[in-house]
Amino acid sequence: MSKQRIYLDNAASTAVDRDVLEAMIPYFTEEYANPSGSSSFSANARSAVETARDQAAQLIGASAGEIIFTSGGTESDNAAVFGVARMNGYGSGPDKIRRRRIIISATEHPAVLNPCRELEKQGFEVLYAPCDEYGFTDTDHIKRNCDAGTALVSIMSANNELGSLQDTGTAAALAHSAGAVFHTDAVQAAGHIPIDVRKDDVDLLSISSHKLHGPKGVGALFVRNGLKLYPNVFGGGQEKGLRSGTLNVPGIVGFGKACEIARISMDRTNAYLLELRNIFIKLLTENIPGVHINSCMEPGKVLPSILSVSFDAIEGTSLQIELDMKGITCSTGSACASSGGKPSHVLTAAGLSDERIRGSVRFSFSKYTTREELEITARTVSECVKRLREILG
Ligand code: PLP
Repeated sequence: MSKQRIYLDNAASTAVDRDVLEAMIPYFTEEYANPSGSSSFSANARSAVETARDQAAQLIGASAGEIIFTSGGTESDNAAVFGVARMNGYGSGPDKIRRRRIIISATEHPAVLNPCRELEKQGFEVLYAPCDEYGFTDTDHIKRNCDAGTALVSIMSANNELGSLQDTGTAAALAHSAGAVFHTDAVQAAGHIPIDVRKDDVDLLSISSHKLHGPKGVGALFVRNGLKLYPNVFGGGQEKGLRSGTLNVPGIVGFGKACEIARISMDRTNAYLLELRNIFIKLLTENIPGVHINSCMEPGKVLPSILSVSFDAIEGTSLQIELDMKGITCSTGSACASSGGKPSHVLTAAGLSDERIRGSVRFSFSKYTTREELEITARTVSECVKRLREILG
């Protein structure tokens, strides 16, 4: 009998949708020409890339010309942060404007945090906007600190540990009132909640394909028409000169298809995920003493796919390992290697006690998660928590 596998780590990565895979296959073995070439063979690949550009644009209310394909969320975030910094005199940038302040939320992913730390070493001042207990960024901090010396405000659309949805519209308006550029890391949000870059007046937005049932190693940076950004990668001038390099055609085709599927099925998927999440919370809280739900419970304020939970008197890492041995995958905080065993900076920023942070685990669901899987997981969590508490006793 094969070992059960219940995958509840969809905020780390998702399964590629079968229809996405089907759409990609011809671009490995049949339509493999370089899309930048001048032959009709190349034109086929180029046309597929442009269809994907349109599909990605439609997901966020942009126009196709504003989509720059990248290798994923990390590259998009780096391109946004360094691109704006370079326009303000960092490195080999034009060195005219010299805005030196960057404001980000304290709960950003390392893909935004670490480029900003790098810029701190180069003389930029980085301010970290605090958040409340659920990870909602304090926009008053942005209001108080965003001034004529601010180059960039970057506030993530949805947090990867708590699922909290940020008020990007307000943050963008505050950035723009001081003449700063507004970027949002929408890696967890894109394909999961409706995004409208026009309504929120976003300048730059990062997306990653593998978080929305597309392949890994591909993503996009939305760059608002007219915004000047310094390139991140130099070479043959692809992607309007902002990101040179031969395009990953199969990956881009898959990403585009995943965007289209996510857009069409979003409402249905979210209603399903919300139901699943509520069932799971009920099963956990009714059967296990000393459980705390760290994510906000208010529908519409969080991604229904992410749930952070803490268990009194146990280590989240021990629970995660026990569950893994029983074929259930979840995570403690973010799955990024950079956390290096340190307590989650997100839960720390949210002001959770050390014990609650230590006992935290993140479960994240997808359209493929079933009610039965959650029932098995809740039962297994209950047994494991009981056992771990006895051992630590
Ligand atoms: N930003 C957020 C909020 C994320 O959750 C992640 C991945 O977990 C990234 C950026 C990095 O994206 P990628 O894995 O596509 O580089």
